[in-house]
Amino acid sequence: MGVSDQVRRLREELPAQVRLVAVSKQVPVDLMREAYVAGIRDFGESRIQEARQKLPQLAGLEGISWHLIGTLQSNKVRPALELFDWIHSVDSWSLAERVNMVAAQLSRRPKLLLQVKLTPDPDKSGWLESALWEALPRLAALPQVEIRGLMAIAPLGLDPIQTRDLFGRVAQLADSIRQKASAAGWGTIRMEELSMGMSGDYPSAVQAGATMVRLGQIVFGSRLLPLRENNP
Ligand SMILES: *Cc1c(COP(=O)(O)O)cnc(C)c1O
Repeated sequence: MGVSDQVRRLREELPAQVRLVAVSKQVPVDLMREAYVAGIRDFGESRIQEARQKLPQLAGLEGISWHLIGTLQSNKVRPALELFDWIHSVDSWSLAERVNMVAAQLSRRPKLLLQVKLTPDPDKSGWLESALWEALPRLAALPQVEIRGLMAIAPLGLDPIQTRDLFGRVAQLADSIRQKASAAGWGTIRMEELSMGMSGDYPSAVQAGATMVRLGQIVFGSRLLPLRENNP
């Protein structure tokens, strides 16, 4: 199956309210154009450098939202804000504070998701629940950003039930934060988006309430092999 068939098939499979973010890292722009023609308006990239090369080539396509899904280093915040509408990978207070500051300099109001990890794993980035609760009052006081929800990546090696449970915990955390934000009058914390689910686990994420799925290989084919050979 080619890109447009995959996009159509996924669009039929996914509930209408779930946004399909096509993860186009390492994908050439001609395949991205094909995805656009098939209806994709949200593209996810992992690296600033790659996005900087590709975005101008797609500048003629109207209505695209660009999503940064990869780790953001604090020295790349400025180009990130110049290129992307959404940042899914805000994983620390210092990064959030810097994004707020650079956004003010650029007069932008980026949409942020807070990347959470529910199990302590030093190799994975993301907020632990306790650290996030502790930082929330300070996050709520950042005037130049909109905190729209949470993002999570499931650890490898879970079965579908465990994965759904984990995504379910992320959804519950978002609910609790939403209640707290509304009680506390934190207008910049909205918690309406849940970015969860990749090619290997998106059905579990959708069951758990994902509003954005980040799909790469299932849309574009394996990043290691050319699409046509991979999916004859
Ligand atoms: C690469 C990537 C994806 C997409 O993964 P696929 O397995 O290709 O669907 C989603 N989210 C993040 C954070 C990624 O880095």
